Amino acid sequence: MSAQESALVLFSGGQDSTTCLAWALDRFSRVETLGFDYGQRHRVELERRETLREGLCELKPEWRDRLGEDHTIDLSVLGEISDTALTRDAEIAMTEAGLPNTFVPGRNIVFLTFAAALAYRRGLTRLVGGMCETDYSGYPDCRDETIQTLAKALTLGMDRAVEIDTPLMRIDKAETWALAERLGGGPLVELIVEDTHTCYLGDRGERHAWGFGCGECPACELRARGFERYAATRAG
Ligand code: ZN
Repeated sequence: MSAQESALVLFSGGQDSTTCLAWALDRFSRVETLGFDYGQRHRVELERRETLREGLCELKPEWRDRLGEDHTIDLSVLGEISDTALTRDAEIAMTEAGLPNTFVPGRNIVFLTFAAALAYRRGLTRLVGGMCETDYSGYPDCRDETIQTLAKALTLGMDRAVEIDTPLMRIDKAETWALAERLGGGPLVELIVEDTHTCYLGDRGERHAWGFGCGECPACELRARGFERYAATRAG
């Protein structure tokens, strides 16, 4: 991996993708960001993106120098083929297949394929995404084998090396907070707590130690538990 390389980061405005953006800014000379609008119910997440990009630039001058354009791709067509709580007013629950009903089948395959096409056009050599199989919550398109097999298919299909970095793949939520601390110290942890959004319900009414959210949906629970474990290791 060379410092001269460039990357396109899949950046939703959540905790994971913000940590990935900091990770990429720490490594690559040019970094652009990509967000997908697919009619998700937690649109508040997308709206955090500009605040977070600006916040990251303020943390380190070299990050400001490296951060390039932000892109948004409209994938609202996904709403037509999904039947989930993210796009309809349904309660978030587990399906019989053991998947949350927020699951859009193969969503990350679609996202990474569009990202690879954009990266090709922009001359960016790597893709960075926050997929993780440690806190496995039933998303088979987050598995390392899925992602790396897709990288192979994209490399063949575009006749150009497509590298996909997934810095969170093997770590859990507590370690994701610790990684943020290593990359940007307390100020980056604070930025992520304050300005990233993970809650499925788009709730920003109450500020907890781990950030804003309803505190009860699966995304909030995962984030809160991870933060508690991270905070405990720091205190101990
Ligand atoms: Zn929530």
